[in-house]
Amino acid sequence: MSTSTKKMVVKEDILNACKQYIHNEDSLKLIEKSIDYATKMHDGQFRKSGEPYIIHALNVGYILAVLHCGPRTIAAGMLHDVLEDCDIPRETLVKEFDEEVTALVESVTKIGNIQFKDEKEYLAANHRKIFIAMANDIRVILIKLVDRLHNMRTLQYMTEEKQKRIAAETLEVYAPIAHRLGISEIKNELEDLSFFYLDREMYYQIAHLVEAKKAERDDQVKHMISDISDLLGKNKIEFRIFGRSKHLYSIYKKMKTKNKRFEEILDLLAIRIVTKTELNCYEVLGYIHATYRPIPGRLKDYIAMPKMNMYQSLHTTIVGDDGRIFEVQIRTEEMDSIAEQGVAAHWRYKEGSKYDSRREQKEIEEKLTWFKDFAMLMDGQEDDNPVAYMDTLQKDVFEANVYVMTPTGRVIDLPNGSTPIDFAYRVHTEVGHACVGAIVNETLVPLNTILKTGDVVQIRTSKQFSGPSEDWLKVVKTNQAKSKIKNYLMRKEIERRQEKIEVGEQIIRDELRKRGFDDKEYMEKKKFEAIFNHFQVNNYVDFMYAIAVKSISPPSVVEKLTNQKRSVLETNALSKLLNKEFSSKKSTSKSGLKVSGVDSMMMSLAGCCSPVLGDEIIGYITKGQGVKVHRVDCPNVQNTKSRLIAVEWDETISKQQYESNLTVLAHDRNFLLTDIVTVISQCKGNMTAVSCVVNGEDLTATAKMSILVSDIEHLKNIIANLKKVNSVISVERQIL
Ligand code: MN
Repeated sequence: MSTSTKKMVVKEDILNACKQYIHNEDSLKLIEKSIDYATKMHDGQFRKSGEPYIIHALNVGYILAVLHCGPRTIAAGMLHDVLEDCDIPRETLVKEFDEEVTALVESVTKIGNIQFKDEKEYLAANHRKIFIAMANDIRVILIKLVDRLHNMRTLQYMTEEKQKRIAAETLEVYAPIAHRLGISEIKNELEDLSFFYLDREMYYQIAHLVEAKKAERDDQVKHMISDISDLLGKNKIEFRIFGRSKHLYSIYKKMKTKNKRFEEILDLLAIRIVTKTELNCYEVLGYIHATYRPIPGRLKDYIAMPKMNMYQSLHTTIVGDDGRIFEVQIRTEEMDSIAEQGVAAHWRYKEGSKYDSRREQKEIEEKLTWFKDFAMLMDGQEDDNPVAYMDTLQKDVFEANVYVMTPTGRVIDLPNGSTPIDFAYRVHTEVGHACVGAIVNETLVPLNTILKTGDVVQIRTSKQFSGPSEDWLKVVKTNQAKSKIKNYLMRKEIERRQEKIEVGEQIIRDELRKRGFDDKEYMEKKKFEAIFNHFQVNNYVDFMYAIAVKSISPPSVVEKLTNQKRSVLETNALSKLLNKEFSSKKSTSKSGLKVSGVDSMMMSLAGCCSPVLGDEIIGYITKGQGVKVHRVDCPNVQNTKSRLIAVEWDETISKQQYESNLTVLAHDRNFLLTDIVTVISQCKGNMTAVSCVVNGEDLTATAKMSILVSDIEHLKNIIANLKKVNSVISVERQIL
C-alpha cells in the first residue's frame, strides 16, 4: 500500500488501514478516540489551503497506519499539533490518553520548534544530529518525518520565501534522516518535492527529458521483463518483476556529483525482481548471469553485507539482447519493504508485544553497530562513508553532546555536563556576564545545574549584578565560558588597579601643588623610577597603588622627588600662615546681651562654653560678678535652676567678635595643621590660639584652637569646612 493518496483521507480510511494489522479492540479504540479528539480540538481551524486543519492530522495518522506503526504512534500522530495549536494543557492530554502518547506529542512539538534556519554556526550534519538526539525515540522521528511529508505535499499554499526555506530544510535535515533510517519511499518523495520548490527550472527540465524517453524506455523494459519472466517461470521460482524509475532528484544528483550527462544516467534501465527466500535471490542471479552478460565489477551483494541503513539486495548490471544495459535488483519481500520503509518496516508494530522505547532504541544502536563491523569490510560504498557515519551517530549524537533550546527554538549544543552558565555564554558574552539565574523547563534552577538534551533554557540577567566570580570557573564546562570569565576577571582587576593608579597620581599631584611645586615638572615616570628603590617597589603600577592605599606617604614621596626637607617646609608654611592670623587683635567682648531689668553692663559671656551670637543662651546670676551668660546646653548650668535667668541677644548692639574654642580630631598626617589654619583663614575666622597633640597609640591628632567669629552661622560654616579637611574625624565646640 502506498502512503500517497489523491482522495481525501477520512476517519474510516485510517481505521481500515489499522485493522489490517491491529485486531485488539482497546488499541483500535485508542486510535479512534485520538481521531475524534483531534477533530474536536482542531474544529474551526484552517490550513493555508483553506482546508479544515484536521485534514493534515488525518493524513499524518493515515500514513503512519500504512507504515504499520503502533497504536500509540498513530494516536500521537493524530494529536501531534494539539498541544501547541489548541492550547491543550499537558495534564489534560495525559488524562484523556496516557503519559506515553503525551510524551510522544511533546517530543514532536519540541522538534517542531527547533529553528534550523539562519544558523551559520551549524552545518546540516549538525541539524540532523540535533534532530535525532532531540527525538530520542524512533517513533518521534517517524511522526515528524510523516508530518513533514504531508506539509511538503501541501506546500503550494505557502509564500515563495517560505516554500524555499522549508524545502531547503527538508532537503538538508529531513530527507537524509529518512535515508539513514532506510525509509526510501519517504526520502525520495521529500527530495523530489524539495527539488521542485528549490529549482523549478531544473526540475521541469529533467522531468521533461524523462517524459520524452519514457515510451521508448518503457518498451525496452517491458521486453526485458517478459524475457526474464519466461526464464524464471521455466525454473519454477516464485517472483514479482517490475521496472522502476529513478526519482528526479537522484538523477539530478548523479548528474551533478558524477558529472554525467542526462543520457548516460537515463540509459541505465532498471528492473527489480522480488522473490521469496534469500536462496531464491541467488538462484535468480545465477539464471540471469547464465543468460545475459554481466558487466564485470558491478555485482554487489548487499544481502551478505547489508548497507548501513539495513538495506539488503543483490545488484547486478547486465547487457540485454539489443545491447541495452540494465540494472537489476534482486531481493526478498521483506528486504523490499525494508528498502522502502527502512526502520519503519523493521520495527513494524507487532501485536501483543509492548513497545519499550529504550529497548527499541538500544536495538537500533546494536543493529547499527553490527552493521558497522560489516561496513569495515566493505569497499567502495555508493554514498556516505559508513564508518564516519557510525562514528557521528554513536559518539556525537548519543554520547558527546547535549542539545538544549532557547525559548524561541534556537538550538545550542554543549558538551555533556554543561550548566546554564555555559549556555548563557554561548548565547552572548554579555548575557553570560550578567547571568543571575536560570529557568530550565519553566523551573528556576541553580546555576550549577547540569543540562540535558531537550531542556528549554532561559537566562535571567541583571544590570546590577556585580559580574562573574572565580567560583564560576569551577562550574562551567565549555572552554568558551571559561576563557570569557577569565577575561572578565582579568579586565576587572586591571580596571581596579588603573583606578588606584589614578588616585595615587592625583594624591602626588595635590601634594606637589600644595607645596608650591609645578606638578607637571615632576609627574614623570622617569622621575618616579629614580625613587622606586627608596620605597622598595619595582614598578610604577605598584608604586602608585601603594600611594593610593596609603602604604607610602605622599609627603615622603614629594620630599624624595623634589629633594626638599619636609620639616623645614612645613614649619615655614605654618608659621607664615599663623603670623598672619595672630596679627589680628584679640577681641574684648562687650556684652551685646540684654535681660529685662538688668543692666547690660552687668552681663558677661561665660568662658566655659563661649556662647556666640545666635546661640541659645541662659543667664546665671553669680555672687558679685553680675550675670554670666552660658549656652543653654552648657553642663555647668544644668543643676542650678534657681539662679538662672532668661537672657537674649541684643541685636541692636553693633557687631563684635565672639571667641569660640574648637577641638579637631584627625588622623595624623603631615601638614594637617597647615590645612586647618588655611581653611579657617579662608572662612575669615581669626585664630587666636592653637595647640596640637598626637596620640601615638592610634595615630590620631587633637588640635585645640580659639577662633574669633561674628556669629553662630559663621562658626557653623567654619566647622563644616573643617570637617571637609582630609583626614579630619570630628570637629567639636569645647566646653572648658
Ligand atoms: Mn503538523
